[in-house]
Amino acid sequence: MDENSLEVVTALQATIMASQLCQKIREDLTGRESILKSDRSPVTIADFGSQAIICKFIREKFLNDIIVAEEDCEELRKPGYSTILEQVTGYVRDFVPHASPERVCSWIDYSSHFAQDRFWALDPIDGTKGFLRVDQYAVALALIENGSVRLGLMACPNLYVNKDQPRGKRGCLFLALRGMGSFQMDLDGKQKQTLSVSKVENAREALFTESVEPDHADHLFHQRLAQRLNILRPSLRMDSQAKYGIVARGEATLYLRVPSPSEPGYKENVWDHAAGSIIAEEAGGKVTDTLGNPLDFSSGTRMERNSGILATNGILHEVVLKALKV
Ligand code: AMP
Ligand code: MG
Repeated sequence: MDENSLEVVTALQATIMASQLCQKIREDLTGRESILKSDRSPVTIADFGSQAIICKFIREKFLNDIIVAEEDCEELRKPGYSTILEQVTGYVRDFVPHASPERVCSWIDYSSHFAQDRFWALDPIDGTKGFLRVDQYAVALALIENGSVRLGLMACPNLYVNKDQPRGKRGCLFLALRGMGSFQMDLDGKQKQTLSVSKVENAREALFTESVEPDHADHLFHQRLAQRLNILRPSLRMDSQAKYGIVARGEATLYLRVPSPSEPGYKENVWDHAAGSIIAEEAGGKVTDTLGNPLDFSSGTRMERNSGILATNGILHEVVLKALKV
């Protein structure tokens, strides 16, 4: 698979459209951000709209491919959701003029929760809490073959383009192909740059990133681990798989995700890590679970054989794994 293969071209086109849909919903709320905080319906509309578009374009070109995606239409088909469904359809129509409520539901329902040897993993909006907070979120799509990610794409509409200018231009598209590297582009797929992870060798200089939400990771444990490793800088908290993107471009050195004490046995969703992990790996990074096991994407929707996540620049991986075992 190369950059011109049908998989890459289709996935890119679909992800760009889905991220434009999410941005449009955000723009329509400009100045009314309080709505995002008090009412989940904008994120629900964006979530369903993003999934409808991506499923439609992938299935159109790859009739037999399974798409393991977060949403289904059970709720959306209920009478109480008719207004939401109309709104979803309205936004999808900007990209697919013949969209109807029935068609939108059927596209969303292309998703299956039974993975096969080859399947797509989709998180239509990863980091919904970030979207609600008017913060980071991502549209994340990956192609998995025999348990290994082949292609990862991630649109981060709200992520600053230049790591040295966090207040500068926003909107990044990350692409990785197995064996061919990891790239960052603008949200329209232009201005492509090759990414590489940080060269930091001493943990003291490392910047680590973690979830914003305390329920998604054990912040206290992370802090203690950072002390043990003599990491001097405070953590960079960020929602969504954008964390893998900032590891890939050498901004953060480590991404830690030790299961939160509120849910110690939590099994990660495949769609929450497939795209991000290949983006960090193809930039030269290493990604395992917190025990050092390779990520296993072959056990359905949940990563049953893994616990938590550790993504690093590779150089510091063993040092952090060792510290995790203490
Ligand atoms: P993040 O933005 O990195 O905090 O991750 C967001 C993702 O965390 C969501 O897409 C959820 O699927 C996932 N999530 C939900 N509950 C948990 C949990 N208890 N532990 C870890 N991740 C979770
Ligand atoms: Mg998610």
